[in-house]
Amino acid sequence: MQRQQIIKTVRRRKVELVRFLYCGNDGVIRGKACHSRFLPSYLESGIGLTVAMQSFNMLDQLVPEGSFGPVGEIRLMPDPETFAVLPYVAKTARLLCEMVTLEGEPWGACTRTFLKRMIARARSAGVTLKAAFENEFTLATQDRVPLDRSPCFSSIGMDSAAPLMLEIIEALQAQGVYPEQYYAELGPGQQELPVRFADALHAADNQITLRDTARGVAWQHGLLASFAPKPFPDQAGNGSHVHFSLWGLKDGKNHFHDPKGRYGLSEAGYAFVGGVLAHLPALVALTAPTVNSYRRLQPRFWSSAYTAWGPDNREAAIRIPSKRRGLEMESTNLELKPCDPSNNPYLALGGLLAAGLDGLERKLDPGEPALVDPDTLTETERKRRGIRRLPATLAQALDALERDEVLRPALGDVLAKEYIAVKRSEVRGFEGKDVAFEIEHHFYKY
Ligand code: GLU
Ligand code: MG
Repeated sequence: MQRQQIIKTVRRRKVELVRFLYCGNDGVIRGKACHSRFLPSYLESGIGLTVAMQSFNMLDQLVPEGSFGPVGEIRLMPDPETFAVLPYVAKTARLLCEMVTLEGEPWGACTRTFLKRMIARARSAGVTLKAAFENEFTLATQDRVPLDRSPCFSSIGMDSAAPLMLEIIEALQAQGVYPEQYYAELGPGQQELPVRFADALHAADNQITLRDTARGVAWQHGLLASFAPKPFPDQAGNGSHVHFSLWGLKDGKNHFHDPKGRYGLSEAGYAFVGGVLAHLPALVALTAPTVNSYRRLQPRFWSSAYTAWGPDNREAAIRIPSKRRGLEMESTNLELKPCDPSNNPYLALGGLLAAGLDGLERKLDPGEPALVDPDTLTETERKRRGIRRLPATLAQALDALERDEVLRPALGDVLAKEYIAVKRSEVRGFEGKDVAFEIEHHFYKY
């Protein structure tokens, strides 16, 4: 939306507060709001923010080994395209922001800018990524009692969550995010709401909208919508599997689609899979980035635990979903499972692009398909096929990210250093603490 239009809409809709939002290195959605009376000037200059916020972790601590402290400012500069009046809070609108320096230059620690950089890298290779996050989340009371114990995909579950889910669905559409399916998932109070795919930047923005909207609407009902990866230690986790495809800029075609390819996937598709699998132990530090994430990435929970790929294999890290008849090109995509909604979606999609593009450049071979749950193969067989266990802890994932010669440089020195410092501090913050402490913090903040 043009700036003038935003200002008009704000007046017409009697908006009082306009939130300038961003997603932190810790995956928490944060921001500041300005009063609508002063919006025109803040649209120009952005809202000031202490540099320290990019050294904050999800326990709300300023990380001692971070680069940023009490001295220094940046600006939250809104992208006017992201303007939306919030349907679930009275007289409030929001804009999604990038972090810029006082001189108006992109700031090295900004995650949305990182994704834009990776999108530009793809464009220079003649392609663009389209993606959608397939979110699962848990509805529960403030004391974390799940909304119901309905069976998987049951209409019992659909009925018990119906009024709330319909409100969430309507609120999303009012903000330009389009849910495509809905079902009550396996876990207690668990819902799944896949939305329509969009180009990578919009897909990441949509993820912020969806998380905020589900939580905001639930809050109006006195409930919590939690996107914690493992809200109950022994039950199904909350994934945000990424469905993605790569489209040609010139021909406007899906470059993953090849009717003659094995499972209908093109050579480019296989090379992209090769890249993602090669970097996966490091990539999960971006896509599944909390301490709680690693409680989810266990065998037999359909969230994946190994660097394997396979056609319609729901225990493989990358699934090639079967195509929809009559919509073969449009529906050709890959699904990355070791990804959850506690991540910063700009980092997750930027990292996915960097890994996949590396596969394309080096024409990496993803190896043999896994046609069974990789956990049922013997260790020797997995070794023969080059299937590795995903990191079992956030600390291990961060070690892999630190060593990764594609992902770390892609993030750039400033962002990589800060991200790793923030995440290492989260590892320490939960060391020696019990499961209850871990779940309490993740349940509430994601
Ligand atoms: N809840 C599973 C996860 O943690 C995914 C189940 C499914 O949709 O296949 O990723
Ligand atoms: Mg699901």
